[in-house]
Amino acid sequence: MNPAAPALPDVTALRGRFAGRLLTEAGDLEPFLVDWRRRYFGRALAVAMPDSVEDVAAVVRWCAEHRVAVVPQGGNTGLAGGATPDDGGRTVVLSLARMKHVRAVDTVNNSITVEAGCTLIQVREAAHAAQRLFPLSLPSEGSCTIGGNLSTNAGGVAVLRYGNMRELCLGLEVVTAAGEIWHGLRGLRKDNTGYDLRDLFIGAEGTLGVITAATLKLYPLPAAQITAMAAVADPRAALRLLEMAQSMLGSSLTAFELMSDLCIELVLQHFPDHRRPFAQPSPHYVLLETSDSEGEAHAQAAFEALMERALEAGIVSDAVVATSGTQSRALWALRELISEAQALAGKNIKHDVSVPISSIADFVAHTDAELGRRFPGIRLVVFGHLGDGNLHYNVSPPVDRAGPEHEAEFLALQPAINLVTHDAAVAFGGSISAEHGLGQLRRDEAARYKSPVEMALMRRLKEALDPQGIMNPGKVLPPS
Ligand code: FAD
Ligand code: ZN
Repeated sequence: MNPAAPALPDVTALRGRFAGRLLTEAGDLEPFLVDWRRRYFGRALAVAMPDSVEDVAAVVRWCAEHRVAVVPQGGNTGLAGGATPDDGGRTVVLSLARMKHVRAVDTVNNSITVEAGCTLIQVREAAHAAQRLFPLSLPSEGSCTIGGNLSTNAGGVAVLRYGNMRELCLGLEVVTAAGEIWHGLRGLRKDNTGYDLRDLFIGAEGTLGVITAATLKLYPLPAAQITAMAAVADPRAALRLLEMAQSMLGSSLTAFELMSDLCIELVLQHFPDHRRPFAQPSPHYVLLETSDSEGEAHAQAAFEALMERALEAGIVSDAVVATSGTQSRALWALRELISEAQALAGKNIKHDVSVPISSIADFVAHTDAELGRRFPGIRLVVFGHLGDGNLHYNVSPPVDRAGPEHEAEFLALQPAINLVTHDAAVAFGGSISAEHGLGQLRRDEAARYKSPVEMALMRRLKEALDPQGIMNPGKVLPPS
């Protein structure tokens, strides 16, 4: 933002410019000014909750006129502080929460057009009601929104088979930083008519414009979905299992998730209704899912054949194939509750790294050793989407320094722990943010690892699409 910006405008003037709600009372604003992890706290003049794309355009035009920043917000489940305003106060938080209509389902084109405030679960259910699958699946699906999923290019547990949010999007409707409406809701699989504007807004974390609706891809509902879990010694064994699973199951393998025993321990500690999957603990586990077009018996037989061969080859030490929906959900819960269990256990240092799949075991071995040597006693809570080369390589304090009284001391290690982990990810040819985006959390670190050319291209794009710098300032790109 321009430092010479004029005095604060009267935000109540926005009332009457758009339908929907305008919140201005401090108590009403509070939940919109802090992120899910409670790491970032910001300030704002108001929260605008429009009902339509025309409303969004009216709010953005008012903000552009008065040089007020616009911070788009969906479900506020992002993990990089992207939806939290800075503490300057010259901001309107633009919540898409009231824009939740499913506009159209086309079962011939296999597409669904939804407003940005639809929650992910809502879209999955709308697809299901039309006998179709919308495959994006995240543990936060009950609260996160399609606008947020697109703006962070969310990943989740089905990327292995269906790709991340970018691959699932056909078209967008966007309000630009000047308050114009771009009607780009095309349901086309093929469209080579110039620069791909859609892909610019996906993953931009609200720094280029506001996504107000999207046309997304649908898939046939699988005849059967079967879950299995295998006990493995280490990520290297898990990779051997991945190779075997891919050759035996082909494209029906839809999820391949790794988690360490410490993850399971944390979940059981904070969600005691759940059970260990095996009598004997193992250092690591893999959760696999197949989506089979030929039915349950076929899927089950294929999984059993895989597990038999993996047991014979000594790749896994134990395995279970779920025989009911309840058992399958119980296995998935162990994976999906890890983030919440970690949050309940106290502050931790999160990483969301990706490396080429072939390098992931070496990355883990190297980084475990390096962090263990430099920060004795720290606990590594490592889990994630091994099939995509993406791990949530999280760090918790030593057991004897886990209480809230040691929080500040532990968090002071964050820059040094980040540096070791991210230097390693980059050295192995990887990325420091695989699916959570940069927001404020990774902004400066990303700038450290990107080349000057890449940074300059990003800046030129930002300046071209948002010359006043009002769209979510301070996120993704460091201030120039
Ligand atoms: P918000 O948090 O509201 O916003 C995220 C960013 O997008 C911000 O920069 C915001 O300004 C911008 N934004 C939001 N809406 C719009 C819009 N309409 N137009 C323009 N910009 C917008 N993520 C994964 O990828 N994979 C996971 O497996 C995963 N698991 C999670 C598990 C838990 C328990 C939690 C809490 C989070 C998890 N996340 C995961 C992170 C998070 O859920 C995703 O990033 C999600 O896509 C964010 O959606 P949201 O609607 O909550 O966005
Ligand atoms: Zn994830």
